[in-house]
Amino acid sequence: MVNGRPGYAHAGQGWGDCALTGAFLLGLLLTSPGIAEQDLRAALEHAREVSYQEHWRDAQRLLDELAPRIDQSDLRAYADFHLLEARHLALQDQSLEALDRATRLLELDLETDQLLQLRQFSANIAVLLRDYELAFEHLLQALLLEAELNDPAQALGTFNMATYLFGRVGEYDEALAYGRRAVALARSSDTPNDECIARQRFSPVFKWAGLVEQAEEEYREAIRVCLALGNRLFAGVLQHGLADLLRNENRLDEAHELALVAVESLAETGYVLGEFEARLVLVETEFDLDLLGLDQAEELQTLQAYFAERGFWDQLARLETLMARRAELQGDAEQALVHLQAYLDARERFLGHERAMRLAYLQVAFGLRFKEQQIALLEESARVAHLEAKTATQQRRARTVILTLSLFLIALLGALLARVVKTRSHFRHLSRLDRLSGLANHGWFFERAEQMLAEAERDGKSLFLILADIDRFKDINDRFGHQKGDQVLGQVSRRLRQTFPDALVGRIGGEEFAVLVSASDVTSVARDVEAFRRRSPDGVRAGDPEVTVSFGIAAWQRDDSLDSLRGRADKALYQAKEAGRDRYVIA
Ligand code: GH3
Ligand code: MG
Ligand code: MG
Repeated sequence: MVNGRPGYAHAGQGWGDCALTGAFLLGLLLTSPGIAEQDLRAALEHAREVSYQEHWRDAQRLLDELAPRIDQSDLRAYADFHLLEARHLALQDQSLEALDRATRLLELDLETDQLLQLRQFSANIAVLLRDYELAFEHLLQALLLEAELNDPAQALGTFNMATYLFGRVGEYDEALAYGRRAVALARSSDTPNDECIARQRFSPVFKWAGLVEQAEEEYREAIRVCLALGNRLFAGVLQHGLADLLRNENRLDEAHELALVAVESLAETGYVLGEFEARLVLVETEFDLDLLGLDQAEELQTLQAYFAERGFWDQLARLETLMARRAELQGDAEQALVHLQAYLDARERFLGHERAMRLAYLQVAFGLRFKEQQIALLEESARVAHLEAKTATQQRRARTVILTLSLFLIALLGALLARVVKTRSHFRHLSRLDRLSGLANHGWFFERAEQMLAEAERDGKSLFLILADIDRFKDINDRFGHQKGDQVLGQVSRRLRQTFPDALVGRIGGEEFAVLVSASDVTSVARDVEAFRRRSPDGVRAGDPEVTVSFGIAAWQRDDSLDSLRGRADKALYQAKEAGRDRYVIA
């Protein structure tokens, strides 16, 4: 520890000859005393530019040369140095170390703008680590610092982060509003890279919001801007995003070409996570195009190990689906089942994260609003206190005012608190519903199901789990379009609701539903399933797709966990599919 600061080992020490030459030149540059501090700042600024525009390793070499002088430098340079080094740690896939470094810097007595940078950085890393609660916490602090600083140049990073995070939790209007502000700010900034970065955050929001055409337009513009600046890292991330979009639109050749370019750019700039994500889209596209050779099994395993080790469940779920489909094509039903199970596992974990993220968002949203109101109230009290100082008579009057206002403030704070509590519970309710079908969503379904099993155990009731999966739904999407697909999902949801009015009904996946129903025996459950199959869907028009559904039914047994119950129902569903679909199988 030097000057109460933590001491660190530096991220990249001893990088051969270039470092020596550089150190020599820099030594020449820095010999004159007095201006040393200024030179250090200039050298750090240079390293920062290299880090953002060239390979981070070159920038790290520059930092290694500055390292011996950093502990004696002023706090500002010290923090700049370590923040840049933390960035390099993150780029070489040591996100935890990077976050740790930033967290320790946050404990120092830094100026507001540096604190803001650290918050922005930490929020970014928390996103990489999929720790959305932490990300929102840093975002909240950044938005508060931002209000304090009120400096457009500093606002950019915060707006970028807000764009991304609000987009991730499905608050698209808010995300797009922040994104537009960020792009406008970036365009008027002196740093050309700002626009590339802002656009990189902005483009995917359109994709998530399902605005495909605008998304493509924004992606292309962003790639153009980043490539024009030579920022291959961000261009690579964007090319990967666009490849994913085009693949979803079934424009496979274009997607394939872009994915190849993205992998190359990201590998060359040394951004490991980005490279792996792009490699996932690449193998997915190659699979779709029937280009995925037997020799690529190793690549799939490499990706699988990478995502599983780091807990990137969304990527892992996609990969496991692909591996399951591949095994199925190769006629290896056993392996297909293994991957299907792994897919379910990964997806469940991912959905758990998504729910935590949504709740974290709600907490931040209310925390923020509440904070704003508190600040306004504090300002008001300060104004009142100022009045007090004026004259004696005014003072007396002011006291009455203060008293009245204080009482008023207390009442107002109470009312605000009550409202926050009420709105929060309203949003909790909303966050339990699936938007498209109005049924319980995945997280809420299984949370409620656990409770119902406990109740059944206590009351000695018998329960049955029905898993339902629409047959060949992908074909329906392909032939009739996604909008029609969504309508079909709505029709099936309503039919399920009507057939099982007293049961817990949820949409637990894209075209997968689950019903947890209390019944006397399995025959009556099977009768209800038959009734569902006979019931004609509402709102069907001529030329609409014929929709059939496969079911797996399992009876809950005493001491059965939800997992084992679900496992049996899943297996039965799988058998129903195997046996030709449009039927039910009882486990
Ligand atoms: P199977 O009979 O084996 O179940 O075949 P499938 O095509 O139904 O199954 P698969 O899992 O291959 O495809 C499911 C499709 O559901 C893929 C995905 O594009 C689509 N999907 C998932 N969620 C939604 C959604 O919210 N809306 C629409 N329109 N499609 C969705
Ligand atoms: Mg399915
Ligand atoms: Mg299906």
